[in-house]
Amino acid sequence: MKILVVEDSRANRLLLTQYVEQFGATALTAETGEGALEVFARMKPDLVLLDVVLPDIDGFVVAQRIRAMEQLGEWTPIIFLSSLGDDANVEKGIAAGGDDYLLKPVSQIVLGAKIRAMQRLVRMRGSLLAMTRKLDSANRELVRISSSDGLTGVSNRRFFDEAIALEWRRARRHSNSIAMLMCDVDFFKLFNDTYGHQAGDDCLRKVAKAISLNTERPSDIVARYGGEEFAVVLPETTIGGALMVAEKIRQAIRELNIPHESSPDGRVTMSIGIASAAPGFDNPPDDLILAADKALYRAKREGRDRVCRADAA
Ligand code: GH3
Ligand code: MG
Ligand code: MG
Ligand code: MG
Repeated sequence: MKILVVEDSRANRLLLTQYVEQFGATALTAETGEGALEVFARMKPDLVLLDVVLPDIDGFVVAQRIRAMEQLGEWTPIIFLSSLGDDANVEKGIAAGGDDYLLKPVSQIVLGAKIRAMQRLVRMRGSLLAMTRKLDSANRELVRISSSDGLTGVSNRRFFDEAIALEWRRARRHSNSIAMLMCDVDFFKLFNDTYGHQAGDDCLRKVAKAISLNTERPSDIVARYGGEEFAVVLPETTIGGALMVAEKIRQAIRELNIPHESSPDGRVTMSIGIASAAPGFDNPPDDLILAADKALYRAKREGRDRVCRADAA
């Protein structure tokens, strides 16, 4: 343990140094306020014994500047030492960021007890911080799990519903258009019937990955909307941009070359419906989803493995 002793009186400094060393800690010393700040920054002591009256800046200012130097989550106990023992000074010391106040002349026994108490606080604070960090990461993990689809790892329906509502409001605020794709694997019931559910699940994982790889903007959202249906939200995207993304995805699914003997094409393909809208003040995102859904069903009717856009909404 390193303890910084800040004291301009040489006799007091020597005495405090002796107390600190008898306590079993290493003493660092400074005679001025500026000197204290320099040693503090360089040596990172575990505790500071801080005289109030110093030749340059007073101890209160030193304490404030020490607090300002500390990084988020850091805390070094500061004990003021002073002969100015009136209540107002004690209050000022604590307000400046001090943790305790000792009157001079300091008793060796009291000083040792105070240092020990501060050590205990530091330890307790450390375990509290560690616990908080664990809770934080557990929370983040929970958020991740509760918003992603267990099979494919893309966002789940719950997340999608929240995200599209949010993106809708954002688009309205900025008068942007927003586009979405509704993607559905063709003849997937037949795929399951032919190859089994395991293979079906594998296929869905590959499809989800291919969709994700082809939606490049960080703001794009890929979600599993239902069984073999995936929804993609493309904020700040026009119908033209959406068409390009959809065509890229359709092609990527073909290029996965997943055999599907009961499909006309002999491999897994995907139909995609796209729609875009400029959110107004009274229309909810439901209309956009509905329009993409209708376009998807047109793509199915017109022969599958294709992209269809909604009629101008
Ligand atoms: P279409 O080309 O018209 O889309 O035909 P389809 O067979 O793909 O459509 P339909 O909606 O009739 O069938 C969807 C099938 O997707 C039903 C079910 O067998 C399968 N499915 C849905 N969710 C899952 C899943 O999580 N895993 C697996 N393996 N299959 C699923
Ligand atoms: Mg002094
Ligand atoms: Mg399908
Ligand atoms: Mg379907």
